[in-house]
Amino acid sequence: MSNKIDIKSLNLEEMIQLVAEMGEKAFRAKQVYQWLHQKQVDTFAQMTNLSKAFREQMQNRCYITSLKQEQVQISKIDGTRKYLFALADGNVIESVLMRYKHGNSVCISSQVGCRMGCRFCASTIDGLVRGLTPAEMLDQIYKIGQDIGERISNVVVMGTGEPMDNFDHLLRFIEMLTDENGLHISQRNLTVSTCGIVPRIRELAEHKLSITLALSLHASNQKKRLELMPVANKYEIHEVIDACRYYFEKTGRRVTFEYSLVGGVNDTDEDARELSHLIAGMNCHVNLIPVNPIEERNYVQSNGKVIEAFKSKLESNGINVTIRREMGRDIDGACGQLRRKYSRKQTITSTCIS
Ligand code: SAH
Repeated sequence: MSNKIDIKSLNLEEMIQLVAEMGEKAFRAKQVYQWLHQKQVDTFAQMTNLSKAFREQMQNRCYITSLKQEQVQISKIDGTRKYLFALADGNVIESVLMRYKHGNSVCISSQVGCRMGCRFCASTIDGLVRGLTPAEMLDQIYKIGQDIGERISNVVVMGTGEPMDNFDHLLRFIEMLTDENGLHISQRNLTVSTCGIVPRIRELAEHKLSITLALSLHASNQKKRLELMPVANKYEIHEVIDACRYYFEKTGRRVTFEYSLVGGVNDTDEDARELSHLIAGMNCHVNLIPVNPIEERNYVQSNGKVIEAFKSKLESNGINVTIRREMGRDIDGACGQLRRKYSRKQTITSTCIS
């Protein structure tokens, strides 16, 4: 498979080139693209408006990425669905469907594992395996759409992995997701979350897209951020904030700051005051997330009163703030938890067999 072309990761332009190489007319490229990204077929045989010879040629030279649903957990509280998908190489990834009044939102993974090392995050514990291909990112959305038989209107790249650490594939994913011959999701309905890889934030800004940038801030000063996020060793907090300002200047899109509240670590009055100062005057939005405790670390959630007080303090300083509703609390909600549990189970099973 490795020397075959990953046809579902080709953008329309590349598809036109491939189709030309195979001696077919350019309009056939659009048809193939629509089969893959709108009708979402998994075999060339299903592309019934194309000649048999052409389909066979594609079959010989290309393969179609298709994720396999291994498991789905459905929340009894709010209908959130957490999926575990197997990739062709045997790795597993997780994706989440959240149902809101305004539509269905899918949270996708961008990598298998992660190398950023955030202290409170389960996805990073075993490090990075590899980045996902554009097709593997897209297919998470396609498979979930098929499973529920409804349209997906919003996508957030907030699952396992650091999207800016898989930058070229991320850009292509965005292009393909928003293509009118594919799902045609509006750029405005797409959010990309990053731990703050400064050069990539600036590069993304240059593309002047209308997607929302979410920045995982989680602390009000450099010292505290460093305790939670090793990436702060590389990019100092003010550098990160400057990159976010730049993103707004270039795109006109309000930046979201994600702030996971960890009991006794970053939730004091002083933290709220410092945070207000840090982002003063920015056109932004703060999303407070009660940290989701993972069993590998002893972080705890801030209590409800503390969270409300933190929010009020920011609001009194003129900052736009919401507390993120916790979705799927009953189903291994936090990033990377389901995948970790699954991998551990597999290891135990294989030990038993051998
Ligand atoms: N690497 C990207 C996207 C994946 S993480 C990023 O860092 O933004 C998505 C969001 O979930 C980030 O804000 C991350 O810090 C947060 N997160 C991860 N584990 C968490 C946990 N246990 N509790 C609360 N938020 C968590």
